[in-house]
Amino acid sequence: MNIRQQITDDIIKAMEAGTPPWRKGWTSGCLHFNASTGKPYAGINQVILGMQAHTDPRWLTYKQAEAMGVHVRKGEHGTRIVKMVEVDRRKAEAGGEEQETLGVEGGKALVMKAYTVFNASQIDGMAPLPEREPGAEPSEAVDAVVWGLQDTGMKLNFGAGQPAYYPRSDEIRMPQARDFHSVEDYQATLLHECAHASGHPKRLARLHMDARFGSAEYAREELTAELASAMMGGVVGLPPGPSMIEQHAAYLSSWLDALRRDKNEIFRAAADAQKICDYLSERALEAKPRRAKWGVMAPAMTREPVTESGDDQTEPVAFARKPAQPRL
Ligand SMILES: [Zn+2]
Repeated sequence: MNIRQQITDDIIKAMEAGTPPWRKGWTSGCLHFNASTGKPYAGINQVILGMQAHTDPRWLTYKQAEAMGVHVRKGEHGTRIVKMVEVDRRKAEAGGEEQETLGVEGGKALVMKAYTVFNASQIDGMAPLPEREPGAEPSEAVDAVVWGLQDTGMKLNFGAGQPAYYPRSDEIRMPQARDFHSVEDYQATLLHECAHASGHPKRLARLHMDARFGSAEYAREELTAELASAMMGGVVGLPPGPSMIEQHAAYLSSWLDALRRDKNEIFRAAADAQKICDYLSERALEAKPRRAKWGVMAPAMTREPVTESGDDQTEPVAFARKPAQPRL
């Protein structure tokens, strides 16, 4: 059974409807989690659950529900998610409806297994979803993410032009917050650029330093940063602003191309997005607060993008929020 292709097809179908499906998924102020273990789902499962039309972030398998004394309503359709397990090679070769072998080494095989979960809203007897605990404001959490990266040497400069991350100078350039439609748009954009910055060689070493706009690497990095910033938005409780949705629409066709080309793409992007979220969260927790709360937002020096000498044919690579030369 080709689980990866089926999941990719579902995501493509949702994308073809016009809105990046994951954008509606993390509006509850937290990530989707298993209500029995309390653990958030990771990677692709966050994306799959985020695509469903449920606002409750809690999920259970049928068995878990029964064990907790709550009951999946008759006729409800569950959502299929996946997990990777290592099994005996012979067991993998026997195959099965709900599994796909990803690789074989020696007597062992890595298998992707599908299983079904139900949303709390499909289950009778669930306690109401507790109110989100008043914790840090989204703006404080976004600040902490930026501080965490600044602690590792990333620069944040404000000035005119499109928001972008410049890997060669390890620098995010942002317009002022007041130049955005809303503060949510500003913060979501900042998270997106932070997601790019996490890929610098001295951090998660994911970025292709010479990726050109329009290349497969560029599209892949954009999809990864997009998923990561949407997930981080969920982590910090940031509601998506209207112009974010608009901007994402500009990328949709390049993401669709990437997904149609390769059934592994969304899995790779989701796994990377998970790594980015973990990294940014860790850095944020250890971040040294800058003096003023909005210190990082003060107009800082602006300078021209760093161009390396002798590199005259190429523009400095920038992962811009909006494509610098929209082709859509
Ligand atoms: Zn970008």
